[in-house]
Amino acid sequence: MTDIHDTSTNRILVVDDDVMLIDEYLRCLGEDYEPDSATETLSELEKVLFGEETDERGAARFMVETRTQGEPAVEAVEEAVRMQQPYCIVFLDIRMPPGINGIEAAKQIRALDPDVNIVIVTGSMSSEAENLDKQVPPADKIFFFNKPFHAAECRQLAAALCGKWHADMALRRANEELEQRVEERTAALQKLAYYDLVTRLPNQLMLFNELQAMIDQSENTAGDSVVVLLDIDRFSFFNETMGFDGGTELLRSVGNRLSRNFCKEKMGLHPVIGRFGADEFVVLMPNVENDMAIRDFAEKVQQVVEEPFVIDGRDIFLKVSIGVAWHPVHGRDSKLIFRCAEAALHRSRRSLDGAITYYHSEMRYRAQHKFDMEAEFRSAIDNGQIKAFYQPQQSVETGKMAGIEALARWIRADGTVVPPCDFIPLSEQMGISDLVFETVLADVCNDIAKWREQSDWEVPVSVNLSAHQLRNADLVGLVKRVLMNKEVNRNLINLELTETALLEDLTTARPILGDLAEFGVGIHIDDFGTGYSSLSYLAELPVSTLKIDRSFVGKLADSESNTRVVQAIIALGKVMGLDIVAEGVETDQQYALVRRLGCDLVQGYFIAKPMPAEEFRRWCDGHEDTQSLKHAATVVGIDSARS
Ligand code: C2E
Ligand code: MG
Ligand code: MG
Repeated sequence: MTDIHDTSTNRILVVDDDVMLIDEYLRCLGEDYEPDSATETLSELEKVLFGEETDERGAARFMVETRTQGEPAVEAVEEAVRMQQPYCIVFLDIRMPPGINGIEAAKQIRALDPDVNIVIVTGSMSSEAENLDKQVPPADKIFFFNKPFHAAECRQLAAALCGKWHADMALRRANEELEQRVEERTAALQKLAYYDLVTRLPNQLMLFNELQAMIDQSENTAGDSVVVLLDIDRFSFFNETMGFDGGTELLRSVGNRLSRNFCKEKMGLHPVIGRFGADEFVVLMPNVENDMAIRDFAEKVQQVVEEPFVIDGRDIFLKVSIGVAWHPVHGRDSKLIFRCAEAALHRSRRSLDGAITYYHSEMRYRAQHKFDMEAEFRSAIDNGQIKAFYQPQQSVETGKMAGIEALARWIRADGTVVPPCDFIPLSEQMGISDLVFETVLADVCNDIAKWREQSDWEVPVSVNLSAHQLRNADLVGLVKRVLMNKEVNRNLINLELTETALLEDLTTARPILGDLAEFGVGIHIDDFGTGYSSLSYLAELPVSTLKIDRSFVGKLADSESNTRVVQAIIALGKVMGLDIVAEGVETDQQYALVRRLGCDLVQGYFIAKPMPAEEFRRWCDGHEDTQSLKHAATVVGIDSARS
């Protein structure tokens, strides 16, 4: 079958009530036509236009049909279009009584076929033919041809118009293909911009739009549009232990499971599932009846994700934190509602039991406050407002200062001092614990250098580490960089780590502590006794000192059982060759008690409070017990315990 895309046929319809003229058309457009020498150029033209569609003489092949009246001609065009075998040209006589004239036939033909070239054939210019291009547009597809005509003229015109028709068709096809390609590309780009590549779920941008659409549609309904934002607890742990591919599969599985459980078929409404961030997913639910239904829905989401997953043949049990907010109660704009859900999620993350938090307005104030604090804290670091304060540790045996703890303070521009409990957790949430540590350590190194220069002191200084920092495999690199840069003896630096932080991920911590100890810095366990009761793990770690938490010291006088715990800690520590520091010693009674129990060092307000560097130096200068500070590090067993 010949169709519009087939260029092998040049179909021509000749319409004339003069049968003699029809014969003339057939002769000059037929296969047997013999070109005379004057028309050799025509063969050349046809060869160029039609290539393989010419016969061995180089003449174009035309398939000619004829009609003697306008109406049958219109029918023939209709049929040709229907059969997808359209004509390239219709030659139309202008007057064909008794039927419709050529102009009328041309109008009807044009309505059926927008591409065909129509040639009006006239003996003389008649008035009906005026403005023909306006009567039968478009102007580039309507032509005049005078009769009588020479055979070569007719053939040349036919060849040129068939060639034009094929060119038009090719152009149209190219345009259609281009349009289709543009459409496909647009769809692909749309996918990239609005969908997550890993899970193929809507991304944050799309989720904003989806929620807004839900909100717009919900103006006429009674129910609420709910955002359930969930975060996989400890996803980075799974990612690390299962490898990148395993982590990706887990994310896909979570997405799939949510999509399966919260689809239109199951819910009767159109929920939308999306990926909001690295390990955060969203379920949007329109038209939820009341608070009770919202609660049921959020609990269902939690339950669905906390069912075990099987990845690589292993059962994976996830815990999720969830934040919930909804329209219209928490806002009318989708972004605002998402922000509320994020604030609620943030609250859930901090609670220990992986709870579901439903947004309430007080959180907005807190979120804003936190945002302001974060910005202020960042610039505080940049502007050198984070400083080390120093608190001495006294040797029980010699009564002399044998160590110092550096404690961070944020000195605001107006001179107010912000305690670490107000900014260390913030820095941890912001993920900049390393930066704070680096700032404090550098400050400590500067002060050590100054003390050495001014007073020839060499006292070991302890710097606190945040729990998060043990996950930084390059912690050793960071410590090395700072110490080498500041040219401070590494034996003068101890790092304090709380027992709970250490036990959170002992496997990760072990090699890092090993590297640190090998480099030459000391490792002290802070707030000891508040975490696990087992001491066995200590034996395999390069720890030199235990600091008994001040909560034990504070209650020593009035609790027998407390005293026994401290006694046991000291005894075990001694067996392991560790130094024992009692923290938070405030009274002479407490001092006497910890001394009797066998502590090596004492730190607390009884000796001195933490002080800024200059004040600390003055305090040391004026304090009798610290007169022989020179090389104090060697006075007590800090180094000996380490070696
Ligand atoms: P910590 O390392 O256990 O420090 C001892 C805390 O007890 C200090 O509180 C100190 O001022 C306080 N203290 C010392 N003697 C006494 C006493 O006799 N009585 C009482 N009631 N308190 C005493 P501070 O300076 O507020 O620090 C609190 C915690 O903040 C520190 O506990 C430490 O965990 C953390 N921290 C301080 N500086 C840094 C730092 O640079 N980095 C990190 N990651 N944490 C830090
Ligand atoms: Mg400490
Ligand atoms: Mg402590």
